[in-house]
Amino acid sequence: MSPLYPWFAPLWQQWQAHLEQDRFPNAALLVAKAGLGVDQLVSQFSQAVMCSNYAAEPCGFCHSCQLMASSNHPDFHRVVPEKEGKAITVDQIRQCNRVAQESSQLAGYRLIVIEPAEAMNESAANALLKTLETPSAKCLFLLVATSASQLLPTITSRCQQWHVGEPDSVVLTQWLAEQTELPVPAYAEHLNGHSPLQTLRFIEGKEQSRYQAIEQQLLAVTRQQGDVVKLAKELATETEQSLSWLWYLLTDAQKCHFGLALPTAIPGASVLAQQVSYDLLYTQSEALRELIEQLTTHSGLNRELLILDWLIKFNGEVCL
Ligand SMILES: [Zn+2]
Repeated sequence: MSPLYPWFAPLWQQWQAHLEQDRFPNAALLVAKAGLGVDQLVSQFSQAVMCSNYAAEPCGFCHSCQLMASSNHPDFHRVVPEKEGKAITVDQIRQCNRVAQESSQLAGYRLIVIEPAEAMNESAANALLKTLETPSAKCLFLLVATSASQLLPTITSRCQQWHVGEPDSVVLTQWLAEQTELPVPAYAEHLNGHSPLQTLRFIEGKEQSRYQAIEQQLLAVTRQQGDVVKLAKELATETEQSLSWLWYLLTDAQKCHFGLALPTAIPGASVLAQQVSYDLLYTQSEALRELIEQLTTHSGLNRELLILDWLIKFNGEVCL
């Protein structure tokens, strides 16, 4: 088993203690931001729960461990949307409820992981509620979500909750240094919202050069020399990522107007601050925040057009 990411270590210690005392709650909710690699924790937990010889770590040899390794354990159920981005349906939850009422096939725990829990639609969540209210012995539900706010309060109130945020900078910097031989630019963690896996991809993949190209194009646009249509097209791919980068760039540029020179500041921010007034940067970063929210909550919008409209406002023009 690969070692756990260090930012999960404190939580894992608590979970181990619960498991060792046979006191893990019947309904647990794990809330972890995206980019933390939560799959690794869920997988380690699931193997530990199912192992017949569990002692601090799953043994890896027992019948249960072998069934888990071949994804064939009859008492382990992972409920995910049938298609990415779709809802977890009431039928899927009713099936879980039946499992919860049956007895274990291998005499150990039954474990049902629902992920992402916020993908349950309202009727699915309501169907789950009753089962959570009347827990069966040796049947555990683990709900995994990126944010608790999208879950019904009736669900969250019935679960014991654990929240994992981004690791602090010391832990993250050390982990990155262990993972990569490449230089880690001081601004990389900050630009990627301190998300460990995203920052590592940024350093090791093509994202760093992609970011730099986007930054250059935006600086050209704000000098009224750039090609807004081309930039809008570029930003419309990997939209969430690209726009989030720009949001950090804009907020760093606002700090430059206040004379704040942070060591983690994004290099292009000071140039942007020279080219664009504080007021416009502020208005544009607020508009960008709303745009990101709009694009992540509604599908089927014309991304390119909305981004183009936002870009053109750097020149004080109004489109749409
Ligand atoms: Zn085992």
